[in-house]
Amino acid sequence: MAKQLLGKEVTAALNARIKANVAALAEKGIQPTLGIIRVGEREDDLSYERGATKRCETLGVAYEKFLLPADVSQEELMATIDKVNKDDRIHGVLIFRPLPKHLDEAAVIKALSPEKDVDGITDGSMVGVFAGTNQGFPPCTPSACMEILDHYGIDCTGKKAVVVGRSLVVGKPAAMMLLKKNATVTVCHTRTKDMPSVVKEADIVIVAAGRAGVVDDTYLRAGQTVIDVGINVNAEGKLCGDVDYAKAEPVVDAITPVPGGVGSVTTSVLVGHVVEAAMRKYL
Ligand code: NAP
Repeated sequence: MAKQLLGKEVTAALNARIKANVAALAEKGIQPTLGIIRVGEREDDLSYERGATKRCETLGVAYEKFLLPADVSQEELMATIDKVNKDDRIHGVLIFRPLPKHLDEAAVIKALSPEKDVDGITDGSMVGVFAGTNQGFPPCTPSACMEILDHYGIDCTGKKAVVVGRSLVVGKPAAMMLLKKNATVTVCHTRTKDMPSVVKEADIVIVAAGRAGVVDDTYLRAGQTVIDVGINVNAEGKLCGDVDYAKAEPVVDAITPVPGGVGSVTTSVLVGHVVEAAMRKYL
């Protein structure tokens, strides 16, 4: 039976660190604050927003919402970005995406100050991840994967790691972060040949394909650690990952469940980035 890598255990430890940093900032009279820019009322966005604001409240981080109608003009949205960039009370900004089709999302992302980019969406943040500099913030989901590996003492040095998925929001930054941890990294995608053999070679597997159960026991072997980033809804309407948990769990050494794995850590990572943004500025 595999060891379960539980998001709630990682989150508890991460939250304790965040709270200590919030207390250090409070001593200087600073309350870290997240600016939330939401265009329209998509249910996905509202649900993520509820999770983020609740976590902010738990951790002593303030938030301010900038709510815009779904038919907002590009000019008004850009003016809002400019306002939060210049507002010293706001240390980090979350912009819900995708934006409605009539808006130029690339221009919006470009306008956001990398030092407030706690969700890791700007080019500046990407440079930070890919060049190893300390600008901006890495995207929250691959950071959550690294938090899980760190928390459970899974050393990546010299290990073979495979990332399934090459999106800019998860797969590619996850690969760079594993590389920084001295793993030897392979990235798989839809054109990868004989993916089961490639994945079987790995000691550490991060799956972010966006397809329910795409990795099962035929891809896996004993000794592996599997981090499942996927969030899908199965035929029974239940949340499930990109890994077929029932088939994978008896085979591998350690695995994250879905739900209860990466997703629950991601929100604390976001709030932790807001606190770090304030610390970079004031401490
Ligand atoms: P995405 O942009 O759709 O990218 C999916 C990637 O997986 C692509 O690179 C694609 O390859 C690859 N892929 C798809 N099917 C594959 C297959 N059968 N074999 C090999 N590679 C395959 O998705 P994403 O935004 O990275 O998200 C991935 C998953 O993570 C989704 O389930 C999403 O819901 C979840 N997610 C979770 C969190 C969290 O906090 N837990 C946050 C964000 C996303 P190509 O490039 O060749 O098309």
